[in-house]
Amino acid sequence: MKPALFTYHRPSTVADAVATLAEVGADGKVLAGGQSLVPLLSMRLAAPEHIVDIGALPALDGVDVTPHEVRVGALVRHTDLEQHAGAYEVLPLLRQALTYVAHPTIRNRGTVVGSLCHADSAAELPAVLALLDGHLVATSTRGERQVSAAELYLGPLQTSLHDDELVTAAVFPVPTSRVGTAVVEVARRNGDYAVCGVVAMVRRGADGDIERARAAYVSVTAVPRVLDLTAVAAGGDWSAAGEHAKEQLACSGDIHASAEYRRHLVGVLTGKALAEAGEAAG
Ligand SMILES: Cc1cc2nc3c(=O)[nH]c(=O)nc-3n(C[C@H](O)[C@H](O)[C@H](O)COP(=O)(O)OP(=O)(O)OC[C@H]3O[C@@H](n4cnc5c(N)ncnc54)[C@H](O)[C@@H]3O)c2cc1C
Repeated sequence: MKPALFTYHRPSTVADAVATLAEVGADGKVLAGGQSLVPLLSMRLAAPEHIVDIGALPALDGVDVTPHEVRVGALVRHTDLEQHAGAYEVLPLLRQALTYVAHPTIRNRGTVVGSLCHADSAAELPAVLALLDGHLVATSTRGERQVSAAELYLGPLQTSLHDDELVTAAVFPVPTSRVGTAVVEVARRNGDYAVCGVVAMVRRGADGDIERARAAYVSVTAVPRVLDLTAVAAGGDWSAAGEHAKEQLACSGDIHASAEYRRHLVGVLTGKALAEAGEAAG
């Protein structure tokens, strides 16, 4: 099927882009890498009257790394961030997660910010942003605001972003030292969306004790849930933390997995991800 007719806009400045979005309101959609939007248009599951292509805004095409954060511009492709040595050095979790995002051809076109805005509960990056307590920077003609991961996701493919807002960057805070991270998934085939995925972070104290253990989930809940498993994992019993996670999350079944199987995966993968993260924190 072909997309319904739309008017195509290709602004050359951020100011023009947000002015166009303000003008077209709910009838407009931002186009970044097109890896989710174009299939939706082609299947006519989305039929916006205006497409605002941000591909000609070079101001949004950068990764800034400081010891405290990795700031990813809205045109940065998955592959760019995956291969960014500076980002890897301070925050290996980004590369750990990105290797699970689809296939290289899709990662060459799709953007990190596009994935975060698309809000698919089966996507890895929203869980990463939630685990790290990161945020998006949203710009409109009214100015700029920060939208934290906790307030961003409302439901599957639903965010609290306004129709006229352009997200210019995603900000991933860098955890303090002695932190290890891991991503563990089960998918039917390499590159497919996960049936269940766990993104984990463990922090150890100077004496090696576990000070913090958290996990966020992919393809489990409608919006990314972050569990604080510190109390139950403090003694290093990762499988007990997995069992606890199973009790905390209401899993539903679908064509890919029954609720019972997904619940089983939550338990096993939480234990495995925390164990890997705990090892890396060592
Ligand atoms: C076959 C296939 C397999 C895939 N497998 C996975 C997978 O395993 N894991 C995974 O996480 N993803 C997967 N994806 C999804 C892919 O990673 C995302 O489609 C991509 O990252 C989205 O980024 P994009 O730049 O292509 O966004 P687009 O498709 O251009 O846009 C997606 C949505 O975000 C909005 N948007 C984009 N940028 C902005 C912005 N700057 N400001 C405001 N709104 C914006 C758009 O309006 C649209 O609603 C898969 C996709 C395909 C086609």
